[in-house]
Amino acid sequence: MQTIRGFRDILPETIALWQKVEKEAKRLFDEFGFKEIRIPVLEKTELFARSIGEATDIVEKEMYTFDDRKGDKLTLRPEATASIVRSYIQHKMYASDPVRKFFMIGPMFRRERPQKGRYRQFYQIDVEVFGIESAYIDTQLIFLLTELFKRLGLTGLSAHINSLGCPDCRPSFQASLLKFLESKKDRLCENCLRRMDKNPLRILDCKVLDCKNAIVDAPSTLDHLCPACTGHFETVKKTLEKQGVDFIIDKSLVRGLDYYTRTAWEIQTTTLGAQSSVAGGGRYDGLVQELGGPPTPGIGFAIGFDRLIEVMEQIETPKEISLDLFIAPLGDTALEKAYQWSCELNPAGILTELDFRGKSMKALMKRADKLKARYVLIAGDDELAKDAIVLRNMTTKDQVSLKIETLIRELIKIIKSK
Ligand code: ATP
Ligand code: MG
Repeated sequence: MQTIRGFRDILPETIALWQKVEKEAKRLFDEFGFKEIRIPVLEKTELFARSIGEATDIVEKEMYTFDDRKGDKLTLRPEATASIVRSYIQHKMYASDPVRKFFMIGPMFRRERPQKGRYRQFYQIDVEVFGIESAYIDTQLIFLLTELFKRLGLTGLSAHINSLGCPDCRPSFQASLLKFLESKKDRLCENCLRRMDKNPLRILDCKVLDCKNAIVDAPSTLDHLCPACTGHFETVKKTLEKQGVDFIIDKSLVRGLDYYTRTAWEIQTTTLGAQSSVAGGGRYDGLVQELGGPPTPGIGFAIGFDRLIEVMEQIETPKEISLDLFIAPLGDTALEKAYQWSCELNPAGILTELDFRGKSMKALMKRADKLKARYVLIAGDDELAKDAIVLRNMTTKDQVSLKIETLIRELIKIIKSK
């Protein structure tokens, strides 16, 4: 049996980096007052169709959707924002305090063509903030991303930002975009042609090279912002500059989901080839209301955890984990004792393994080497009878003899002192 295409195991050999990222992310979110939320992996299809948008890549072709036994259409979550918005509304969180700051870490599912940096089950580190319209929160989220990457020792990442405007700026932009697209019609792919009526903004996010080339001179949302959106974006840029966060204004950045308004951004790396986007985020001021809540501004980002790990693998060599102590019991009485000792030593902070299989001394020493044990405790029935258990330092090959009564105390003292 094998995993299905686009799905993969993350094995213990590589888990250290995942845990390191999770630890740093949680610490940072904690420092800034973000609370963890855990949402279901499965939701009604309608939630994603309505929030992400019908004419998007995700909803059109990437979702894992199936009929439940009673005929409900269900979908494995392709992203987290929609579910967190649903949760915010379902639990009427806005009533007690509309300002909420969440994070979540977990798997997402999209049926894309698998390749390096693109999987069908992948992981995201997601942050969402509700109830704050101020541009300072946009800045803070971009700052948090760059701060996390800095703490992880990553360089060579750049923040691309854009403003997509609001429903007030859209009509003038859409008109100018449509006029431009009409003139390029013969160069656009079928998908884009279909989207011209439904959602022309999506065309700016098309991944087909010919389309990309055709639209390099497309009008920019930035030239159509209303005064309020202009002021908002100016504050974002000014504050980022003051905070020393480098950014690039990228007028071609529109992001692949329908619900975005105003600030949108992506963190890109030059070291991952085609899959260059490590994180993406944006404001979605209309979404809470769209999904049935009160008018509430919202903003968030998602880090592509798998891609982040791939960037980190380029700079970090996995640390070898060594064992503090390997117990080599020879004989049944010794095994029983060894088992009891290990139950005391592990909680005391001495990483201990023992062999349960009654192997020969030679085989046991071989395994101790393989596990990179710093010390080996040799406890045969002989040693027990003489009350002289042998502790061998595997680096220096020195040996000492220990008494059973004070064994645990002595072991902790010796092993922890080095
Ligand atoms: P892309 O343009 O690469 O398809 P996206 O715009 O679809 O990305 P988002 O929905 O913004 O991606 O998700 C945020 C992040 O999640 C992306 O920047 C990326 O790092 C990661 N991501 C998205 N899809 C995948 C996938 N199939 N496999 C691995 N990571 C992914
Ligand atoms: Mg995508």
